[in-house]
Amino acid sequence: MVGEGSAGPASAAARAAADAVDPDEILRFARALIAARSENPGGTEDAAVQVAGDVLTELGATTEIVRSNDGRPSLVARIGKGDRPRLAWNGHLDTVPAGDPSTWSSDPFEGAVTDGRLVGRGACDMKGAIASALAAVAGVRRGRIDLAGTLELHLVADEELSGTHGTRVLRDRGLLDQDAAVVGEPTELELALAERGGAWVTAVARGKAAHGSQPHRGVNAIVSMSRLVLRLPEVLPDREHPLVGRPTVNVAIVAGGSAPNVVPDRCEVEIDRRIVPGEDDPDEVLEPFRRLVGRLREEHPDVNIEVAIRDWTEAAETDGDTTIAAVSRDAVAQETGEPPPFVGFTGITDARFYINDARIPTVILGPGSLTLAHTANESVGLDELHTGARAYARLFTGFLGVAEPVG
Ligand SMILES: [Zn+2]
Repeated sequence: MVGEGSAGPASAAARAAADAVDPDEILRFARALIAARSENPGGTEDAAVQVAGDVLTELGATTEIVRSNDGRPSLVARIGKGDRPRLAWNGHLDTVPAGDPSTWSSDPFEGAVTDGRLVGRGACDMKGAIASALAAVAGVRRGRIDLAGTLELHLVADEELSGTHGTRVLRDRGLLDQDAAVVGEPTELELALAERGGAWVTAVARGKAAHGSQPHRGVNAIVSMSRLVLRLPEVLPDREHPLVGRPTVNVAIVAGGSAPNVVPDRCEVEIDRRIVPGEDDPDEVLEPFRRLVGRLREEHPDVNIEVAIRDWTEAAETDGDTTIAAVSRDAVAQETGEPPPFVGFTGITDARFYINDARIPTVILGPGSLTLAHTANESVGLDELHTGARAYARLFTGFLGVAEPVG
């Protein structure tokens, strides 16, 4: 443990809140959330909203369920009287599907503990982090800290499939208006200030059908598409972002052909082109695909491929020179002994709604490692969850301040 960054009642309160965090409680919250299945696609967040809502009500929060037009629930919980500063902590209640249970060493919804690690779907991404945030709220309360500002937990639906039914709904209903935000995705408690976005590109190759025994009479669309796929790295611009690195491209889905004895006249692929902050113009991202098709056509006149962007998710970047970044850094440093580095997040998170749409200074900060997210036997260290909860307790107290005693 290093020395307190600033002396005084706020830092004493921050330590008291952290010390009041109960590791057994974190585990209990996390296991209850994991047992409340919320696979996306395939399920809803209702059971998980119920679990988190019960905990938060018990802790004195006022809660509200905000449903998308399709009925998917997000929980908005307020701790405090609405006074400023106001801080949002965002975590998603949905998980990716558990997949084949036989690939797991234990029931993915049991929340088994093995070698000091909690195993289960959502343990790392990100019901564990939500449990840490709930336990931090409990620590603040148990430490009898009267926060000057207001904490708002946004426990949302549908992050895994783009946030349409979750954080986007909160944005559309005018609920993203806080002074700062923390998105608790797994960063191993490093401080992520930028994330990549994605352009889903569809490419369709057209050929000419012919009898499979006379391929020279047709034009094979799969062959045309193969030429494109093998040269996809040529569409990437030579640019590098200091936190998230370079853009990438990955061919993800392929479909083509109709029968073993027919020359295929159509082949379609879905391409995942990840964009970095600064790549704001879809046309600029698509143009290199068109130029590559043009070059292929010069070499092979039969090539006929159309490309289009099917879905665009912007990248996001926030300033490191903000109060929330400084307070978060200090909170983690107090717990780990060293200030966490500023990093980039390689995936897409709901932070983009706070940063790009609501212009709220935001950090991505949470326990657990993204490399374990979405895997069979997804897990998170109990010590990581405990450190995360302690850091959140400090962060909430540090950012929101302590009310002056009246009289
Ligand atoms: Zn996540």
